[in-house]
Amino acid sequence: MRYNPNRELPAKFQAPESVRRKFPYNAAMNSAPTPSQAVTVAVSDTDQLFMRAALDLARQAALAGEVPVGAVVVKDGEIVGRGSNAPISRHDPSAHAEILALRDAALHLGNYRLVGCELFVTLEPCVMCVGAMFHARISRVVFGAPDPKTGAAGSLLDLFAETRLNHHAQVQGGVLAEECGKVLSNFFAARRATQKG
Ligand SMILES: [Zn+2]
Repeated sequence: MRYNPNRELPAKFQAPESVRRKFPYNAAMNSAPTPSQAVTVAVSDTDQLFMRAALDLARQAALAGEVPVGAVVVKDGEIVGRGSNAPISRHDPSAHAEILALRDAALHLGNYRLVGCELFVTLEPCVMCVGAMFHARISRVVFGAPDPKTGAAGSLLDLFAETRLNHHAQVQGGVLAEECGKVLSNFFAARRATQKG
């Protein structure tokens, strides 16, 4: 089953109409890499490729006035779920990029278990998102910038090293960390400038 980026999501998972009008979906920018592209690049290049897709989603969040974090779920070298951080526009404290990407992937695959899937996110995930990844049985998590305030993958605490939890995933941080961090710092600098003005 191919991922169709243009398919209609159920209404409850869609961004509000006002946001969609303002930021029409750019199918070209978000087109999933073909499996043939995925196998011709080295492993670390593949990680960077998917992190770049997550970065595009982070930038979309910034355009919508949300803290810019983006995430994709990948299965067999193909993007099967996408998420842009959107708690403000969705009036939903759980609408972190990772949660939305997990929901998107689960809907696409028709399974609440995402066995064999990898999740790429531009910022170190929080406790809630790591918990959701464990529930979803994500196999590997790759993140960009560390988050000293809420990071639950080694910065503030490390749920991946918590042996009392019955599910574990591989974790790797620091992929395109500088670029991922810059998207965030630029966003906050711009917001401070606006608030002063
Ligand atoms: Zn989170």
